[in-house]
Amino acid sequence: MKDDSLPSGLRPETLAVRVAIERSQYGEHSEALYLTSGFVQPDAATSAERFASGEGYTYARTSNPTVTSFEKRLAALEGTEAAIGAASGMGAILMMIMGLLKSGDHVILSRSMFGSTLNLFGKEFGKFGVETTFVSQTDVDEWRAAVRPNTRLLFAETPTNPLTEVCDIAALAEIAHAAGALLAVDNAFATPLLQRPVELGADIVMHSGTKYLDGQGRVMAGALCASQQLVTEKFAPIVRTAGMVLSPFNAWVVLKGMETLGVRVKAQCDNALTVARWLEAQPQVARVFYPGLPSHPQHELAMRQQNGLGGGVLSFELRGDSPEAARAKAFHVIDSCRVLSIATNLGDTKTIISHPATTSHGRLTEAQRQGAGISQGTIRVAVGLEHPEDVQDDLLRGLGSLTQ
Ligand SMILES: *Cc1c(COP(=O)(O)O)cnc(C)c1O
Repeated sequence: MKDDSLPSGLRPETLAVRVAIERSQYGEHSEALYLTSGFVQPDAATSAERFASGEGYTYARTSNPTVTSFEKRLAALEGTEAAIGAASGMGAILMMIMGLLKSGDHVILSRSMFGSTLNLFGKEFGKFGVETTFVSQTDVDEWRAAVRPNTRLLFAETPTNPLTEVCDIAALAEIAHAAGALLAVDNAFATPLLQRPVELGADIVMHSGTKYLDGQGRVMAGALCASQQLVTEKFAPIVRTAGMVLSPFNAWVVLKGMETLGVRVKAQCDNALTVARWLEAQPQVARVFYPGLPSHPQHELAMRQQNGLGGGVLSFELRGDSPEAARAKAFHVIDSCRVLSIATNLGDTKTIISHPATTSHGRLTEAQRQGAGISQGTIRVAVGLEHPEDVQDDLLRGLGSLTQ
C-alpha cells in the first residue's frame, strides 16, 4: 500500500480540502457523514475502557467522527493543536466562559463586539458574578489600564460587526500574557484565510461556522481552536456535560463548505473592495467603513494583520439630519433592493443588507449602541458572489432616489 499520510508544510488551501479523519474501509473520496448518536462497542471491556478514558467513540455528545473531521480541518487552518465544535458561535463562547471562568473572575472585552457576545458577558454572566470591563476596540492603552489582579481573559473580535474596526492582536496578546491572562479572538469575520490569531500570540480562536466556514447560509455551527491541553482539560468536559454539541450533519455541511473557503473569501474580498470604493464616491453616503480602503483608520494594521485583504463585510453611513430621518433613509435604501436580501447572516454567497441599529444591535441600549458607533443611518452589506456591479446597481436604486 502506498503512503498517503499528508506531508507537512501544506498550505491553507490544500489543508482545507485534505485534512479529515482517515477514510473508512469503503474508501469514500468525499468525507463520510456519520449520522449516528451512539456507537456499537465490540465488547463490555472495551466499552468500559472507552468510558473511563474518553477515547474512542461512544456517544455523540462526547464525540462523532464527522465532528472530529471538522475539528481537525479547522485546527489545521488556524494552526492550533486542536479544535472543538459547538452548536453555534454563541455556543462556543458559552463553552469558553464555562470552561475558563468562575464567579469573581474578570474579563476585558471591546465594546464594539458582536451584540449577543456583549449580552452574554455583561448581562447573563454578570448574574453569575463574572465581572466584565468594556473598552475601546482600538485604544490599546484602555485595554492595558483595565487589567486587574483577577483578570483571566481578554476577548477581542477583529474586524468588528458592523463597523469593521480592527484591533492589534499582537499588542493585546502581550497585555494578556503580562497579566497572566489568556487572549481569545473571534475570527468569524476574517477567517483563517485572512488572519491566524495564534500566530500573533492569541491563545484561543473562536469561530461562528455559520458564517464564512459554511459560506452558503445553511447551518449553525461554532468552534474553539486552542492547545490540546485547553481543549482536553477545559472545553471538552463542558461540552460533554452541558451539551452545546455540534450536530454531525452540520459538521459535515461546514466541513464541505471549508473546501471552497479560499476561493470564496478571496472573491468576496475583491467584490467588497469594488463596492466600498464605489460607495465612497456616492454623494448620499457620508462615510464608508471598510478595512481595505485607505480612508479606514486602521487600514495599515488591517492590511498587515489580514494578509492584505479587507474582508467581505462593509458598512456605510447615510448623511442624516435627525436619527428618525436617517432611519427612514436607511429603510428606503434597504427596501429598494431587488437583488440583495434582507436577512440575518453574513459570509453567504448571496449578498445581505441589514440595518444594525434595529436588528443585530437592536437589543443594546441606545448608550451601548452609540458606544459602538452605530447610528440609525448605518447600513451593513455582507458582500457575496454576485457581480459587484449588480450589487452597486441594486444599492443605487434606493440611493439615487433619496431626497437630500
Ligand atoms: C454570528 C457571529 C457570532 C455568533 O455566531 P452564531 O453561529 O450565530 O451563534 C459571533 N461573533 C461574530 C463576529 C459573528 O458574526
